[in-house]
Amino acid sequence: MRTPGTAELLDIWDVGQPLPPARRALLLLSAAYPERDDIASWPLGYINRQLIVLRQRLFGHALVCLADCPACEEVVEIEMPMDALLNANEMADATHRIRSEGCDVRFHLPTAHDLLLATEGTTPGCLLARTIDSACRDGVDVAPAELGEATLAAVEQAIERADPLAHIAFAMTCPACGHEWSTDLHIIDVLWAEIGACARRVLSEVGRLAQAFGWRESDILAMSSTRRNHYLEWLET
Ligand SMILES: [Zn+2]
Repeated sequence: MRTPGTAELLDIWDVGQPLPPARRALLLLSAAYPERDDIASWPLGYINRQLIVLRQRLFGHALVCLADCPACEEVVEIEMPMDALLNANEMADATHRIRSEGCDVRFHLPTAHDLLLATEGTTPGCLLARTIDSACRDGVDVAPAELGEATLAAVEQAIERADPLAHIAFAMTCPACGHEWSTDLHIIDVLWAEIGACARRVLSEVGRLAQAFGWRESDILAMSSTRRNHYLEWLET
């Protein structure tokens, strides 16, 4: 994995701002893995894992999140155990097979490509249905839409076991009232917000330096942050 520089992150942020989270994730990982052209076919949990690694390289290991207690509205702070998450999700086998309700079902772990088709395609539909590659009962093919609820639940559970970071949830306890609940962590949203805050800070620095010295944006961005900060401090004196 390579770590994109500040100017590149600004370009990605610019392009990704109007896009949905899955496309933002693909933009970031394409910059981190420029030699790979198959990122959209990685399982969602593995994509989340790589986003966590990228986030650690860009913004460090600690990730503190705030959540409102649903019972008493106290603001609860939690430090997400990011290093522990990384142990949970290596790239899993792509194709799987189960037998349920007399049906042999072959399926694959949901990928970014599946997610985009399920949410943006001309025929949007259930993500789970897109993971079913084939189903067969007594030698007769069964369409995904005709599979029983128990079979679909079994497929869903098998996906959760094989690709645990596809859905990241944490148990929360409110220190004020003791209420317990579960909160989801959408790593791309967290990372994108951090990149946005960084982009806004850098752009305001560029604006001040361009105004003061007449330098071009590309030249200012090509400087190290140490050198930019030095000029900014000099402007303050
Ligand atoms: Zn509470």
